[in-house]
Amino acid sequence: MLPDFLRPLILSGPSGVGKSTLLQRLFAEYPDKFGFSVSHTTRNPRPGEVDGKQYHFVTVDKFQELIRQGAFIEHAQFSGNFYGTSFQTVREVEKEGRRCILDIEAQGVQQIKATSLNPVYCFISPPTMASLRERLKGRGTETEASVAKRLATAVREIEYAKEPNMHDYVIVNDDLERAYMLFKQLALGEKILTDTLPRLDD
Ligand code: ADP
Ligand code: 5GP
Repeated sequence: MLPDFLRPLILSGPSGVGKSTLLQRLFAEYPDKFGFSVSHTTRNPRPGEVDGKQYHFVTVDKFQELIRQGAFIEHAQFSGNFYGTSFQTVREVEKEGRRCILDIEAQGVQQIKATSLNPVYCFISPPTMASLRERLKGRGTETEASVAKRLATAVREIEYAKEPNMHDYVIVNDDLERAYMLFKQLALGEKILTDTLPRLDD
């Protein structure tokens, strides 16, 4: 069995909780240790997003062709768009000898559990639903309708995260410095004490 440092690391958690923020800091601090699993998506790029870096941006037709070809380890529909992890992206990162980090939603996590990937699962939780709402709006990337859709999905993602043994670790992203220290330790293969999932019923 691979040591924890080399097992893929899956980050999941509701949209707007801060997953990309944590990842950006990690990749900036350790440019050679980790590799991001660049997913395919049919959503439009946000300002500043670069094809091949945050995502491979593809059409629905192309995405469906990739499904037919069996290119994806997992794929899901989220908030009206398709997202998927290709075997190729994970293979490329592993070939470089880096730890592969995936940022995927709950249906994808469920699908990965049925594969031989054997990752470490980490759920990033907001401290409260109100803070999640604020962050999602504050990011300024979503329309009002998209924020509402993402928040509705967040409720389902959190319910799923409450099921026993769903994730190896929970990190509550309240204070960013604290959350990043824990995330960094985990990514470096150290054991951390998992946080308790907040009630999130506000
Ligand atoms: P995700 O990738 O999970 O969708 P982002 O990383 O894009 O989320 O973060 C959403 C917004 O929340 C961003 O504007 C980010 O700057 C902000 N944010 C991230 N972490 C914190 C935190 N601990 N406290 C306050 N705001 C945060
Ligand atoms: P966003 O549109 O904000 O970049 O991502 C929306 C959601 O899609 C996030 O929860 C993110 O984790 C998830 N996501 C990104 N890539 C993939 C993927 O390849 N597969 C799955 N299942 N979810 C993904």
